Amino acid sequence: MPRVQTPRYCCPDLIGIEHYERWVSRDLIEEIQQLARQLRGIRVCHINSTASGGGVAEMLGSLVPLCSTLGIQADWRLITGDEQFFRVTKTFHNALQSAGLDLREEALAGYLERNRVSAEQVHDEYDVYVVHDPQPLAIRHFASTDHSKWIWRCHIDSSKPNPPTWEFVRPFVEEYDAVVFTMESFQPADLNASCLRFVPPAIDPLSTKNLELDEDLYCRVLVELGISLRKPVLLQVSRFDPWKDPLGVIRAFHLVKQEIPALQLVLAGGMATDDPQGGEMLEALRTEAAGDRDIHVFTNLGNLEINALQRAAYAIIQKSIKEGFGLVVSEVFWKRKPVVAGNAGGIPLQFPDDYQGFLVESVEECAQRLSTLLKQPAQAQGFGAAGNAKVTADFLLPRLLRDELQLFADVL
Ligand code: UDP
Repeated sequence: MPRVQTPRYCCPDLIGIEHYERWVSRDLIEEIQQLARQLRGIRVCHINSTASGGGVAEMLGSLVPLCSTLGIQADWRLITGDEQFFRVTKTFHNALQSAGLDLREEALAGYLERNRVSAEQVHDEYDVYVVHDPQPLAIRHFASTDHSKWIWRCHIDSSKPNPPTWEFVRPFVEEYDAVVFTMESFQPADLNASCLRFVPPAIDPLSTKNLELDEDLYCRVLVELGISLRKPVLLQVSRFDPWKDPLGVIRAFHLVKQEIPALQLVLAGGMATDDPQGGEMLEALRTEAAGDRDIHVFTNLGNLEINALQRAAYAIIQKSIKEGFGLVVSEVFWKRKPVVAGNAGGIPLQFPDDYQGFLVESVEECAQRLSTLLKQPAQAQGFGAAGNAKVTADFLLPRLLRDELQLFADVL
């Protein structure tokens, strides 16, 4: 399994847990340092299936190096596979989110074989393995470790899984020492786990995705991308996935534009290597957007460009129909932007109480809420500020690190 190179943070003046004290309490920092002393020297390995392009990769890119600065040897490895493998795992992903499943025996056999081959490289080298999502789930089954502890971290809303899929997946899940879901409501009703935890994800305010940027800089980035500074920008940043409903976003945009013609829409989508649906959806989007020069579609922009777009946008759309957590919502609340989002998965958890009315169920509702925000800048600003307060309180990296270290201490 290839190792993902994360930044070494060999410059302690730049990043260490103390650098987060600007935003989180001294008590939380001390709690983390205390847990780290208790765990010093342990070896932890995260395993997932992509180094970029989704929320899991985004979090691991910050969590793994920060953990290492605390005397814990943290590594990140990838399960690799061909297109067929990722078609099967994306089908699992969709089926855990309750979609119908259409997988033949040989596809399942191929999935298991890839997990078996990856498990051959696992030999008690780490004290704790944290396996993310269904792609590498069965590695634990095939790995011959005697002393390691195994944690399955499921980022998907699995509350109503497609029954045959769950029947296939469940025995593998129940072999783990601990299972973590984002929220209590995400667990399947009949899961029998020896240790169950609920831990929401978090963003890193020090990553290039979230760092403060000067207005001059982000305006320049927009101009270089060919986006006008004269018309307000509505933005959705998401994998091109049917569950994120980018086609619905374009339809909502067209509805708002009938009322407010001087508007632009930017769709920025990561083509994650483990998501084979991305290419097909991109084609469909280009067709839907054809002829409208105010719609800009980008693929695989860098962190600084995404940061710039999120800071320059007037309002954000995240029109998910099904969602895990939707890390991007915390990213934009952090930047004090108002958000109109699908009422799905972990998104409502991130919304400030007084603004739950901006959670929507349809294209029409989405258009209507966007139009409200465009006409009422003061409300839009208040919403963004409330979102920032919510993220500061609940969804910053140190809290996630504390929860994770606590779990390691418990399973060990
Ligand atoms: N992202 C990105 N570039 C893109 C699209 C998405 O960097 O073109 C990032 C986005 O900023 C966020 C993550 O990918 O950090 C998406 O996470 P989320 O939890 O919202 O969705 P997921 O893809 O994990 O379902």
